[in-house]
Amino acid sequence: MTIQWYPGHMAKAQKQIKERLKAVDLILEIVDARVPESSINPMIQELGQNKPILLIMNKADMADPRRTQQWIETFKKRGITAIALDAQHKAKLPMIEKVAQEILAEKLAKKRAKGIRNPVIRAMCVGVPNVGKSTILNRLVQKNIAVTGNRPGVTKNQQWLKAGQTLELLDTPGVLWPKFEDPTIGSKLALTGAISDAIYHPDDVVIFALEHFKEYYSSQLQKVYKVTDAELEEPAAELIMILTKRLGFKEDYDRFCVKFINDARQGKLGRFTLDVVPVEAS
Ligand code: GDP
Repeated sequence: MTIQWYPGHMAKAQKQIKERLKAVDLILEIVDARVPESSINPMIQELGQNKPILLIMNKADMADPRRTQQWIETFKKRGITAIALDAQHKAKLPMIEKVAQEILAEKLAKKRAKGIRNPVIRAMCVGVPNVGKSTILNRLVQKNIAVTGNRPGVTKNQQWLKAGQTLELLDTPGVLWPKFEDPTIGSKLALTGAISDAIYHPDDVVIFALEHFKEYYSSQLQKVYKVTDAELEEPAAELIMILTKRLGFKEDYDRFCVKFINDARQGKLGRFTLDVVPVEAS
């Protein structure tokens, strides 16, 4: 489920998240591995009053593995610890606690020196809608928590839930607003489901996506929509017309665009990452 954000929502969410983050040792910022840079919230550092952040690139099963690796290295160069995982498969989830302990090693050592034998790490999951916050939280605490939904500004009595030997998580994830200003980022977030269907035009998203796929994932277009080598040379708008006809949708271009977006979201177009690692950093 996605939401629409209005300035009032944002201000309220911002205030609440800031308040709740006061109680944590570590912020678990969840991003979508297909858009690791576009789905980061630029204000989280400020909201978190410079508390340490562990960036979790979730949905790595749907992302381009080569780019996932490049992004982990790029974030490292920027001083950000990032890990990639797939919340639907349990195998990598224990990494979260392990890396959390590494990030907080100094603080934990101090607590041990003071006589606290097994110091607990308190953390909170935050992220833009649909990146997998609830899934990660539920998996880590091993039960189904009543999720309040992706609505900003929803409060209730908060609890700490045991999420590992030494890890405790706040029971409600913090829903952050996405970046809207840049239309390319908007298209990327729409294609991966982080922004509401009501606030973008499917054809803008598909024009952006087709250009990206033509450049980086052309074999996936060839496989799924039988795009020929010659057609790959066509501009995206032209390609939309060709493929709309090919699929028997006559001149209903929107129908093709909506199908393309759904195919991408459901993984039918294979694995892809829309954020390209900057050349100087790769
Ligand atoms: P939230 O809005 O951030 O709390 O996101 P949810 O936890 O509700 O997840 C959004 C959708 O993504 C759901 O349909 C999940 O089943 C799916 N999802 C979550 N994590 C993963 C993942 O690692 N891989 C894949 N393929 N899907 C995931």
